[in-house]
Amino acid sequence: MNQQNVVSLWGSFKTPIVNADDYIASLRGRKMDVFFMGERVEEPVDHPVIFPSINAMAETYRLASARPELASADSNIAGARVNRFLHVPGSSADLVQKHEMQRELGRRTGTCFQRCVGLDAVSACHSVTYDIDAECGTDYHQRFLAFLKRAQQANIVIGGAMTDVKGDRSKGPHQQADPDLFLHVTRRDDKGIYVSGAKMHQTGAINSHWLIFMPTIRMSEGDRDWSVVGAVRVDAPGLTYVVGRQTNDTRIVDGGELDAGNAQFAGQEALIVFEDVFVPHEHVFMDGEWKFASLLVERFTTYHRSSYVCKTGLGDVLIGAAAEAASHNGVEDASHIKDKLVEMTHLNETIYSSCMAGAYRSKPMASGACINDEMLSNVAKHNVTRFPFEIARLAQDIAGGLVVTMPSERDLQNNEVGSLVRKFLQGRPGVDTVDRMRILRLIENMTIGRNAVGYLTESLHGAGSPQAQRIQIARGMQIEDKKSRARLLAGVKTKTEPN
Ligand code: SF4
Ligand code: FE
Repeated sequence: MNQQNVVSLWGSFKTPIVNADDYIASLRGRKMDVFFMGERVEEPVDHPVIFPSINAMAETYRLASARPELASADSNIAGARVNRFLHVPGSSADLVQKHEMQRELGRRTGTCFQRCVGLDAVSACHSVTYDIDAECGTDYHQRFLAFLKRAQQANIVIGGAMTDVKGDRSKGPHQQADPDLFLHVTRRDDKGIYVSGAKMHQTGAINSHWLIFMPTIRMSEGDRDWSVVGAVRVDAPGLTYVVGRQTNDTRIVDGGELDAGNAQFAGQEALIVFEDVFVPHEHVFMDGEWKFASLLVERFTTYHRSSYVCKTGLGDVLIGAAAEAASHNGVEDASHIKDKLVEMTHLNETIYSSCMAGAYRSKPMASGACINDEMLSNVAKHNVTRFPFEIARLAQDIAGGLVVTMPSERDLQNNEVGSLVRKFLQGRPGVDTVDRMRILRLIENMTIGRNAVGYLTESLHGAGSPQAQRIQIARGMQIEDKKSRARLLAGVKTKTEPN
């Protein structure tokens, strides 16, 4: 494909995107309806509160440049080396490398770097489009491969948009008082389809180039118009973005950068509203095949729940910050501090081990894609709903109350009280007071500040809330087999029927 064709397909920005600077430049000049804090944002790249989230996404390109063996992969779709975030895993080794990359990016950014959700959408669509075609005689898989090949060649960011706003949770999509509460097809013509609705909590929404939208729940026959998968450019007409507020997000514009805790990197979530957005047939990957919606949701969540290995990278940062804080206080060698650091590490590595075990025990599917073990992936994400909270609690325990009572950077710079702050916030001799403050602000950032959004609440609800994993664990726990093994060893001859 020549450069001109790539440009016309992918918009005004220069493709292929080679490095982080290209990526950031590619986001400029797009005509999008973006709102934040009640105001239209003309150029998100220049918005000081939004930019750290763009920079976190950019880190995925920096890693690909610095460590191509980790963050790129050989694709048989493009027939070339491609960014790993656009590579459909074809083996356990691919999934293992993906998780190593995610942990490394968590370490580098201390936040959600946003790009996995698109990879997991791509990975799920690869096999599900294949399976729909096999049963229904459609041609979704070839359309999807053509789209993905161009995305790989252009090295763009794809976002995966799954979560509908859902309205009355006791009712299915077609039973809602307002049909827009789940994304649905409003009309069809000979060129394509039109969709309306919304996607909620969309990670990296305006930092993406394209979005793949997918159903968020099992569908019934009455939900045919809601059983739709497709790809749209993020600057397609009819899309509106309302960027979510994050705790302490405006610290970055308060002056200085110390109080932000992590001034470089942040995550991003947005509400995306679709109003009669046109999707040409070539970018429609499911339209009405309602029976396959649950398969898509299950495969996406199986991939995405293991992607939460990202949080172990954040855990590495937070454990390091807690150890630094203890060192600044002169207590790093105290036995109870060491024990807390060991506990934090144990919890962090338990998350890692369940994610990696699911990758090593992956299974091939008919399309050629490989998927993590479903049970282990659900266990991994269930660990993520709990352990970061305990790691965060221990980090605050070690750091002390200053995490939430410390004077601001402006006080530090004030002629009257600056020297007092320096004198009375000092730690052990040889430790710079400002360095001590920086570490405490980082702990604040990750446990109750801007990046606690990603480290804690996203760990709870992202890729499905805890109950969603418990349902999947219950489905796969093979309790009858376990009971029969117990009966055998105990010498119980009679199988009791469930009461
Ligand atoms: Fe990736 Fe983790 Fe962010 Fe999800 S929460 S997009 S897995 S970094
Ligand atoms: Fe997520």
